[in-house]
Amino acid sequence: MQPESSKPFCYESFPSSGLVAYFSMEIAINPGMPTYSGGLGVLAGDTLRSAADLGVPLVAFTLVHRKGYFQQHLDEKGLQSEEIQPWNPSDFCTEEKARVTVSVEDRIVTVRCWRYDMVGRAGHVVPIYLLDTDMEENTGWDRGLTDHLYGGDTNYRLEQEIVLGMGGARMASALGHKVNVHHMNEGHAALLTLALLERQLGGGPLNGATEADIEEVRNQCVFTTHTPVPAGHDRFSTEQAIRILGGDRTARLELMGCFRDEMLNMTLLALRFSRYANGVAMQHAKVSRAMFPEFAIDSITNGVHAPTWVSEPIQKMMDANFSSWRRDNLYLRNAIDLPEQEILSAHAVNKVALLAEVTRRTGQVFDPKVLTLGFARRAATYKRATLLFTDPKRLMEIATAAGGLQIIYAGKAHPQDEPGKALIQKVVEDAATFSNDLLRIVYLENYDWKLGAILTAGVDVWVNTPRRPYEASGTSGMKAALNGVPSLSILDGWWIEGCIEGFTGWAIEDGADDAAEADSLYRKLETAVVPLYRDTPEKWARLMRTTLAFNGSYFNTNRMVKQYIRNSYYPVKLIEQA
Ligand SMILES: *Cc1c(COP(=O)(O)O)cnc(C)c1O
Repeated sequence: MQPESSKPFCYESFPSSGLVAYFSMEIAINPGMPTYSGGLGVLAGDTLRSAADLGVPLVAFTLVHRKGYFQQHLDEKGLQSEEIQPWNPSDFCTEEKARVTVSVEDRIVTVRCWRYDMVGRAGHVVPIYLLDTDMEENTGWDRGLTDHLYGGDTNYRLEQEIVLGMGGARMASALGHKVNVHHMNEGHAALLTLALLERQLGGGPLNGATEADIEEVRNQCVFTTHTPVPAGHDRFSTEQAIRILGGDRTARLELMGCFRDEMLNMTLLALRFSRYANGVAMQHAKVSRAMFPEFAIDSITNGVHAPTWVSEPIQKMMDANFSSWRRDNLYLRNAIDLPEQEILSAHAVNKVALLAEVTRRTGQVFDPKVLTLGFARRAATYKRATLLFTDPKRLMEIATAAGGLQIIYAGKAHPQDEPGKALIQKVVEDAATFSNDLLRIVYLENYDWKLGAILTAGVDVWVNTPRRPYEASGTSGMKAALNGVPSLSILDGWWIEGCIEGFTGWAIEDGADDAAEADSLYRKLETAVVPLYRDTPEKWARLMRTTLAFNGSYFNTNRMVKQYIRNSYYPVKLIEQA
C-alpha cells in the first residue's frame, strides 16, 4: 500500500478477462455449514451473495473448518460450555482434484479444496473453495490444521494463516483461475502476498526481490481492515515467525517493515503489499489511519444482503408494492410510500414468530403488545451488555411507564474469553434478579445466523452499547433496519452514518463514563421510545418506514459490492490534464 503521492494503479475499464479472488478466514456460506463465528463471516457471506447477484467475476477462498465454530450451551446460571459442530463437506460441496503444498515449520503440508457454488439470483455462480488439510499425505497434527475456526493457540493460528494465504493463492493458480485482484478480507489472509512475491521471483531467493517485484505484487492486492484497536490485530512473535514461516521469509518481512513492537503484524503486512486499503465505516477508516498514519486508508461502509435478512412478511409486502428492490436495493427507498398498516401488520407477524421461539426455548411467555428490545452480539466486554442494568430502579420505572418491557439477549463468548463468559453470567443473573410481571428479560443460547434473523426482524428496537471506538462497523442493526426496526445505539461504527434522530432510531449520546451513557440510554427510552410506541402507533409505523427507506436502501451489500468494484478492484483511471 503506497501513500497517495505514488503512481496510482488503475484500470481504465473492466478487464476483459480474469477475476477477483476473495480471501476470508470465515464465511457464513449456508446456515447448515458452521464455517463462521460472527460478524466477519456473515459480512463475507453477504458480500459473496451480492457478488453472485451482481454477476461479478469472483472466486473465494476460506478454510473448511471441519469441526465448525462451537455450539453454545448455557446452564441456569449462564455458565457457557462449548460443543464442537463437526460437519461433512461432501454434504454441501464437491471435491476438486487440484492439490498444492505449503511449508509449515519444516514440514510440507498438502492442501486440497472443496467447492461450494454460490448461485446469484440470475444464475451467476461465485465458487467458494474451502481449503482442507485432512488428507492421508499429512501427519496427524497437520490433518487437523483446518478443523477449528479461531481454535487453538497462536501457533495453530499462524499455521492456519499459511494454509489460507499461501495455500489459497497457490490453489487459485492450480485451479486455472487468472486472478487480477486478490482481496484480503482482514489480515488473516495477508501471507498470500508472500506467495505472490515468491511466484514473482520464480523460485529465486526472497532477498533478491526488487522494488519492482514488490510493486508487481502490490498491483494485485487490496485489503480490508476490520479492527479498530491495536490489540485486535493479528500478531505473531519473531520466534514464532522464524520457526513456523522460516528464517528467510521472516527476515524479508522484517526488512519490509511488517513488524511493530517486535511482532509480525498481519495488518501492516497486508497494508505494505496492497495498492488499496479500506476500513468498514467512515469512522473506522479514520481510526485506522490514526493507527497506521503512513497509509492511505479509504472507507467502504459495510452492508448486509437484503434478500437474506429481510423477513418473509416484509419481503411479501415489498414485492406487492415495488418488486424491483431485489434486483437493485436502491429501490428500497420506495418503502417511504408503504401503507402504515401494512408495515405494522408485517412486523406483528415477525414479533409473534420471535416470541414463539422465546417460549419454545425458555418456556417464558412474552406479550406481543409489549415493547421489546433486542441485544444480540458476541459477548465481548466492550459491547457492555449490562449497561441497561446500570440503574435497575430507573429501568423498572421505564417498564412501568411503558406498560411493560421485554428484553431479549443472545450472544456467544469466545471459548478463551473469560471476561466475556463472566459477562454472560452477569446478564443471566441480572435477568433473574430484575425480571417481574412488568419487566421480562431472557438470554437465548447459541446465537447464530437463524436466531439472528428472527431476532433482528422480530424485536421493536435494536439496542447496541459498544464503548467507542471499538465497534468497527457492526451489521446486526442493518439487518434490523431492513426489517423496519429502528436502533437505539452508541454513535460508533455504522451508526454514526445511519442515525437520523427520530427517523431511523436514536443516538445514545457520548458521555464521560458508563454512567453518563447509561443515563442517555434511559433518557432516550423515557422521552422518545416509550411515548412513541405507547401513544402513537401510526407515528411508530412511519418511523419503521423511514428506517427501511433510508437505511435499507444504503446499508446493504448490493451497494457495498458496487463500491468495492469501482473504488477497490477496478478503479476508474484519472485522466491527466494536459
Ligand atoms: C449479523 C451477525 C453478527 C454481527 O453483529 P454485530 O454485533 O452487529 O457486528 C454476529 N453474529 C451473527 C450470528 C450475525 O448474524
